[in-house]
Amino acid sequence: MSKAGKSKAGKSNAGKSKAGKSTGKEVLLSFEEAAALVAAWAAEQAAEPATERVELTSLQARVLAEPLKADADQPPFARSTRDGYACRAAQANKGAWLKLAGSTHAGQSPGGPLPAGAAWEIMTGAAVPKGADAVAMLEHVERAGERVRLEKSRGLEAGENVVARGAQARAGAVLLEPGTAMGAAQIALAAACGMGTAQVYRRPRVAILTTGDELVAVDAKPGPGQIRNSNAPMLAAMVRAAGGEPWVLPRAADTAAALDRALEGVLAGPAGVRMLLVSGGVSAGKFDLVEPALKRHGAKFHFTGVRMQPGRPLVFGELPSEEPDGVAFFGLPGNPVSSAVTFLLFGATVLGALAGRREAGPRFAMARLTEAVKTKPGLTRFLPALWNWNPAGGGEPEVKPVHWHGSGDQAALARSNCFVVTPETADGLKAAAMVRILLA
Ligand code: AMP
Ligand code: MG
Repeated sequence: MSKAGKSKAGKSNAGKSKAGKSTGKEVLLSFEEAAALVAAWAAEQAAEPATERVELTSLQARVLAEPLKADADQPPFARSTRDGYACRAAQANKGAWLKLAGSTHAGQSPGGPLPAGAAWEIMTGAAVPKGADAVAMLEHVERAGERVRLEKSRGLEAGENVVARGAQARAGAVLLEPGTAMGAAQIALAAACGMGTAQVYRRPRVAILTTGDELVAVDAKPGPGQIRNSNAPMLAAMVRAAGGEPWVLPRAADTAAALDRALEGVLAGPAGVRMLLVSGGVSAGKFDLVEPALKRHGAKFHFTGVRMQPGRPLVFGELPSEEPDGVAFFGLPGNPVSSAVTFLLFGATVLGALAGRREAGPRFAMARLTEAVKTKPGLTRFLPALWNWNPAGGGEPEVKPVHWHGSGDQAALARSNCFVVTPETADGLKAAAMVRILLA
């Protein structure tokens, strides 16, 4: 893992670039500047997370803390990839009849050696007998009793249809580095190498603090002017998907005292809190009290705004805590689409680094836009959209913007699976243009 040095709170260049220092003045970055700053911060994380041992069956989405090594040559024996006849390619190519000297199917110990002028019946996955250098496919040979010969129109190359012992990996070779996020293919490889358990990084604990006087719990009936708190479960799900362990705090009222109490609880709370997500209260309104509260607890701000929509009031920084490396925090704008987009773009990158993932960050792709999009320049925009990667009749993936009513539109968010990106300089996007999309 390339973890060169620790990022100490306040060291960030961008924190000084626009507004002098992180003194409380707004540090408003372009989307690209903010993304670069967050990526650089993530790359600088020096502290290796603590580790634990987990069963193979629980490895999904966990991050390897030890190298995965081949316990033996892979394949462990020269393996036939076809049903057919093992032989010497040079002899088979002469078109002579070869006498069958034996037969091996998958699971049998290697047979042989192969006598001169002979062939050996073999099944897919079986060990090729010593002396044979190729396997002629069943469909490519004539068989007469206990003799076979290659069809006249066919040729056979040495090595054909055989994977040599150790060709995929030599015993002891490192097949996966620490920092690899485990998915189905990596779990299969661990199984192939006899790893019944693996050492993985502990998931960093991420405190989720939702703020707002208007928020009520999921099981409550909202009174006049109230809404249910949907960001708490949404962010918890996003944190889990990005490799963290969510710790959902009770929602805080829009008062300085309530925010102070909540922040004190986080900073002196259960060990292992490396990240804090605060939702709401970061705009410029009278009840947007989150930034001053963070400041009262010693926060250093890397930026306090991004020229993007949704998500302009996004705040990123670090808080000193009982944890030696402090707590990275994001102040996410409370609108559900804003919270979702800013977490995907920035929060997941920071969390991935804290989780020990070698690669973490937003996933972008390209797709053809089904209809024109009207936007004004000045902000990078992320518009909820539906990505169709399997359009009727084949062809390039398409993306269709979802009709929405701004960044509070949860239904539009739930009906989308990506966001169309419009660059800061773009004056709208044309129908049928290939455009960048952020995958949800
Ligand atoms: P704020 O960022 O606090 O100004 O909130 C912006 C908008 O998002 C307001 O309409 C809030 O009611 C809404 N909002 C804030 N927090 C949440 C939440 N946890 N769940 C759903 N909506 C929220
Ligand atoms: Mg609010």
